[in-house]
Amino acid sequence: TDPALIRNFCIIAHIDHGKSTLADRMLQITGVVDDRSMRAQYLDRMDIERERGITIKSQAVRLPWDGHVLNMIDTPGHVDFTYEVSRSLQACEGAILLVDAAQGIEAQTLANLYLAMNADLHIIPVLNKIDLPAAQPEKFAEELAGLIGCDPSDVLKVSGKTGVGVRELLDHVVQTVPAPVGDADAAARALIFDSVYDTYRGVVTYVRVVDGHLGKRERILMMSTNATHETLEIGVISPEPMPADLGLGVGEVGYLITGVKDVRQSRVGDTVTSAAKSAKEMLAGYEHPKPMVFSGLYPIDGDEYPELREALDKLQLNDAALIYEPETSAALGFGFRVGFLGLLHMEIVRERLEREFGLSLISTAPNVVYRVVMEDGSELTVTNPSEFPSGGKIAQVFEPVTKSTILAPAEFIGAIMEICQGRRGQLLGMDYLSEDRVEIRYTLPLGEIIFDFFDQLKSRTRGYASLDYEPAGEQEADLVKVDILLQGEPVDAFSAIVHKDKAYAYGVDMAKKLRELIPRQQFEVPIQAAIGARVIARENIRAIRKDVLAKCYGGDISRKRKLLEKQKEGKKRMKMVGRVEVPQEAFVAALSTD
Ligand code: GDP
Ligand code: MG
Repeated sequence: TDPALIRNFCIIAHIDHGKSTLADRMLQITGVVDDRSMRAQYLDRMDIERERGITIKSQAVRLPWDGHVLNMIDTPGHVDFTYEVSRSLQACEGAILLVDAAQGIEAQTLANLYLAMNADLHIIPVLNKIDLPAAQPEKFAEELAGLIGCDPSDVLKVSGKTGVGVRELLDHVVQTVPAPVGDADAAARALIFDSVYDTYRGVVTYVRVVDGHLGKRERILMMSTNATHETLEIGVISPEPMPADLGLGVGEVGYLITGVKDVRQSRVGDTVTSAAKSAKEMLAGYEHPKPMVFSGLYPIDGDEYPELREALDKLQLNDAALIYEPETSAALGFGFRVGFLGLLHMEIVRERLEREFGLSLISTAPNVVYRVVMEDGSELTVTNPSEFPSGGKIAQVFEPVTKSTILAPAEFIGAIMEICQGRRGQLLGMDYLSEDRVEIRYTLPLGEIIFDFFDQLKSRTRGYASLDYEPAGEQEADLVKVDILLQGEPVDAFSAIVHKDKAYAYGVDMAKKLRELIPRQQFEVPIQAAIGARVIARENIRAIRKDVLAKCYGGDISRKRKLLEKQKEGKKRMKMVGRVEVPQEAFVAALSTD
């Protein structure tokens, strides 16, 4: 295709503002999907995505419209995937900024808009859901116009649901989004903006060609790893894969299949070039995925350990950001320490493990990555509280921080500031988007956000606040490791790295919880919370003599046997911490209640 006739665009929106619905409507209006086979939310393929209404994996669809080729690139919609969003934006020249006409701008709308502006995209402001009785198109057109600096009358109004205004929007894309520009004679350079594992075909890599041409049966080179592969198939998606034997030229968007079985061999952000005539420089902006949040994952039934390993291996084929290594816990047995991009990524992985692989799992409290500098100048990276040095030789501890943006009605400013202050936030600034809505910006430690920050924010603002955050380096902090000890023995699964000011509260809370959950033993069991050798909280489990058979008043032998067997069964699920028997359920309960 002549690049002059190509328009590459994406839709950016806050969750639930109707991106998938609009995308579906465009597929239908351009005739790519006929009305009969129109399945609700065609673009969101995974069940979890559909249920949660989020799009995890971006995809690209080619839409013919008015003698032009529109490539619609679907960006993931959540903060954890900012890097993937930024890569898919880089594959476009334009972005539809979609805002719910009954809700107005939300934190994610802003975050994505800033990313799109950084990528120099042409922005098309659009209000969606104008069919809703609660829609306030005039009010929000003004808000949107104020934000991007256009006239309120330039804001398009559509309904993805009914289709109103969608044709005009497609025309507008053709008229205003710049055509791609590239050097057709240069060595090939294509940006990988997504990479998906398919059980039958292996990895399907989505690319946007910037310069040159990629053909079928060509040896290609992945520039970040220097690996070479052969393109077995190359084509476009419309809406199913259609091989294009002529290959892909400047500005085109499509997929390629090389037979590799692992998405880590085809990384998002990498540059594909031709092995025979390779480009000198890769496209800018490649980053290796960097897990920000870690948690221990253990099978509740220790026999399921091999299945858990297998399931993680399989998930990793499709998720280059997922990393894990075996770990053993005295309390929980054999499991894995798993690294995630963020909280949502963690929830998704866990849910897939349970749902798609039928595993029952227990996870330890999530923690971020700390950098510890010792007095002798040596340094270590801590992804697990058990690796936190317990000696007194620590010079400094650094924690990751975020730049967080919160959007809410102005009446909640006080509540929001209180929450953020309580979590060591530093106010960066505050702006009114309109009379009654504010944008509040904070620097917040990531470690404070991953503990029910979002839930608290929602409940204190009656659901009206929205949050978005991006990594913003690290800061030094007064952090300590709190251990929980049973009869003097540390229970590794409960160790946590917390701020000094919160150590006492954490210790008291955990000790109380465990006292309630651990059954009495035949001797007294002290539960202590300690920082190093210093005990900061203590509870006691009183002793009992438990004689199960005493209840049976002699008589019935078979009943006695049953009881004994039952007790043995129970013992199997008991973990020994020193001399103390703790039922697995106690650990599970202590870790799962917030
Ligand atoms: P996404 O999270 O941005 O992909 O949003 P979805 O497309 O999944 O839509 C979220 C919800 O809004 C769904 O319940 C849709 O049915 C509804 N919705 C989307 N577009 C419209 C619209 O134009 N009008 C109305 N009334 N509802 C819509
Ligand atoms: Mg969606």
